[in-house]
Amino acid sequence: MSGPALFAQVILPLAVEGTFTYSVPESLVERISPGCRVLVSFGKKRIYSAIVQSLGTNSPEGFTPKSIIDLLDETILITKQQLQLWDWISSYYMCAPGEVMRAAIPSGLRPESESRVRINTGYLEGGELDRHELLLFEVVKEQGEVTLGDLDMAGVAKNPLAILKRLVEKGAVEINEFVRPAMHRKLVSYIQLGSEYGSEDSLHQLLDQLSRAHKQKELVECFLELAYSDKLVKVGTVDPAPQVLKRELLRQSGGSGALTALIKKGYLEQVDKEELGRSGSQDANTRDPFSLNKEQSEALEDIRQQFQKHQAVLLHGVTSSGKTELYIHLIREMIEQNKQVLYLLPEIALTTQIIERMRQVFGNQVGVYHSRYSDSERVHVYRNLLGLTDDETYRVVIGVRSAIFLPFQALGLIIIDEEHENTFKQHDPAPRYHARDSAQILALYHDARVLLGTATPSFESLYNARSKKYGFATIPSRFGNTEPPEIILANTRVATKRKQMVSHFTPQLVDGIKEALAEGEQVILFQNRRGYSNYIVCSDCGHIPKCARCDVSLTYHRISGKMECHYCGHKEPMPGACPSCKATRMIMKGFGTEKIEDEIALVFEGIRVGRLDTDSARSAGGYEKIIRSFEQGKLDVLIGTQMLSKGLDFDNVSLVGVLDADSMLHFPDFRAFERSFQLISQVSGRAGRRKKRGKVIIQTMDPDHPVIQYICNNDYEGLYQEQMEERQIFGYPPFKRMIRISFRHKIPSILDGATDLAGKELKKIFSSRVYGPQYPPVRKVHNTFIKQIILKVEREASYERARQLLKEVLDGISGNEVYKSIRISVDVDPH
Ligand code: ADP
Ligand code: ZN
Repeated sequence: MSGPALFAQVILPLAVEGTFTYSVPESLVERISPGCRVLVSFGKKRIYSAIVQSLGTNSPEGFTPKSIIDLLDETILITKQQLQLWDWISSYYMCAPGEVMRAAIPSGLRPESESRVRINTGYLEGGELDRHELLLFEVVKEQGEVTLGDLDMAGVAKNPLAILKRLVEKGAVEINEFVRPAMHRKLVSYIQLGSEYGSEDSLHQLLDQLSRAHKQKELVECFLELAYSDKLVKVGTVDPAPQVLKRELLRQSGGSGALTALIKKGYLEQVDKEELGRSGSQDANTRDPFSLNKEQSEALEDIRQQFQKHQAVLLHGVTSSGKTELYIHLIREMIEQNKQVLYLLPEIALTTQIIERMRQVFGNQVGVYHSRYSDSERVHVYRNLLGLTDDETYRVVIGVRSAIFLPFQALGLIIIDEEHENTFKQHDPAPRYHARDSAQILALYHDARVLLGTATPSFESLYNARSKKYGFATIPSRFGNTEPPEIILANTRVATKRKQMVSHFTPQLVDGIKEALAEGEQVILFQNRRGYSNYIVCSDCGHIPKCARCDVSLTYHRISGKMECHYCGHKEPMPGACPSCKATRMIMKGFGTEKIEDEIALVFEGIRVGRLDTDSARSAGGYEKIIRSFEQGKLDVLIGTQMLSKGLDFDNVSLVGVLDADSMLHFPDFRAFERSFQLISQVSGRAGRRKKRGKVIIQTMDPDHPVIQYICNNDYEGLYQEQMEERQIFGYPPFKRMIRISFRHKIPSILDGATDLAGKELKKIFSSRVYGPQYPPVRKVHNTFIKQIILKVEREASYERARQLLKEVLDGISGNEVYKSIRISVDVDPH
């Protein structure tokens, strides 16, 4: 007997508001539930996988909903807590549920119309397909690789998608990375040396032979390094032919072409093995955590105490005080209680070292989730946490911000390391969420605790701790009581006047580097600007070449030999003469990491230099390689942008040079001072970590600048107090909540019209809480003009009401015939 008709509210992966109603076919009623993944058609020919948000029997009014095509899995893919989090993020950050969905699940779990369908070439046609399946198989074969939306399945069967799904499950058809069920074990490829290259002699010969084939030689070296290091990638400890995970090798060396060539020549061999299920809870070669020292144990005890009363605790521990060791103890406790831990890091560059440390203690219980992993690896972690894979469920997941969206079953603790980092906030596209803040909401749904760790707390978090919203704990000194580094100010204005500057280095920095090198120690140089020069200017007329599409000057890059726009990526050759007055003297102004890299080699002969910035890290395995070389002492100096500042731990660095402190201080943002202090003290923390006291040389034109003084005196509290006073007066966070609304259009007059109207409407409601409309510092990007309105609302005010009113005004603009082509985006708590 059939009950009343059932309807599902589903979330589509689209930037459209709200959910959509579909009817549930009789055959699925028993099996469907919220959090299930379903296939639905939307619009004329589009097919999407959607998530069931809720089910109900109330039939929608005024239209007959389409029917769900099929259920994609037999299990729930999105847990209750995840759906709750999605809902919170979409309402707090004012974005569509579908936008949250897109950020939240790996694309391999989202077959869409654009997904490409093809025959699995490795599939051996046998008798296991039934008549319908075979028919559809033939259709796919005939049509070649087409998108799911274009696949013409008419006439094959009544429910072709269900059949298609079976073909995928049987391994006959592939839909992008549409994952097959766990019973199909994945083959994992390992690389080993060719059979003739087992002995040391033959290896040397091989390397000689490859001396002209750069990439191949590098790859073999990388292979050897991995194979003979004690790293986890090595399997079989006594095996005379060590094997290295292929994907790890490629990740670290980056050359799949080189690998193919080497395999062809027989130098290397590929072995494919079935991945073994992970057995036991811990592998044999893990170690116990270090025992904590007095300060660390006291902090740990404090944290435990605070967790009784507070959901979140801020751990303020200077760099190298052993915060990570403390985390390890907390994680162990959680695992013993059968709970899971989410360990959030601000940046991928950081994860390599942390993963290693965690795996040393927790072995295979550690999962890793970040954007550099392939989609299928991310799908694996996702499914692992749902218990859908052969291996044991991870107890600790290390990840960057999107890891908050994973399906935890028993989350007990979320650690947010380097909590002050602004990379926890997503800028583009929506959802523009802050992982630190969203994690606290997630923790509520799980009744989990949150630990925020940092050497330089964000002022927001410090404020929360002071006002007792968070608990607070601290580790005041470095582990082993190494003294904090000595800070030396080097006045670039004076040195320039006295003609003492050597390239961009003050005499103090030159001497410092010389000294360190003489001692066999390493140096880190920090310049928060990539590229070669900041901009180019004509010495005759003062013309500065700008991007044709954006309102910014072009940056010269030595590597490409071109001027590049850092906003849209546009590149153009260096002009031989001034494009404006035709004079031939174009001067490069300012300096970036590339220029320092070049010039330091001229100042210090024979110096071995590495560079770490988004350009050098872009190549696969780029940053790991650079960090590893530096760790192993193959480089004397590491030059880098803020990527350097994040929690990397090097033993032998005795000197850190900050080349240009001023550029950070003058950044037009209310957090510029806070951020400068954080950045400089984070990079300073890399100096002298274990053996002896380190030294930091800060180059500045303005040694008396208050922030520079606070840094010198290590007076974070002083800066905090001063800044809080200022933020209170001018109504900045944490005292007010900020919402930034950006309007974009190609035609300035249309943009002006829309923003003027929006500004007027908003002022009617929010009066003096509205700032703007105004152009941001960069007013044009990609040929599109940008204008912004900032709304500052009191913390005490009803945010829900404010959001509602704001939405009505913005909907009014989008609904206006003249302005409907304006793109509007809302950023809540912008960073
Ligand atoms: P933080 O995370 O605060 O920067 P770390 O946890 O990285 O500090 O500690 C800095 C260094 O000191 C690391 O190499 C770490 O292994 C070591 N260390 C810290 N605490 C201990 C301890 N209790 N026993 C042994 N080594 C420790
Ligand atoms: Zn541009």
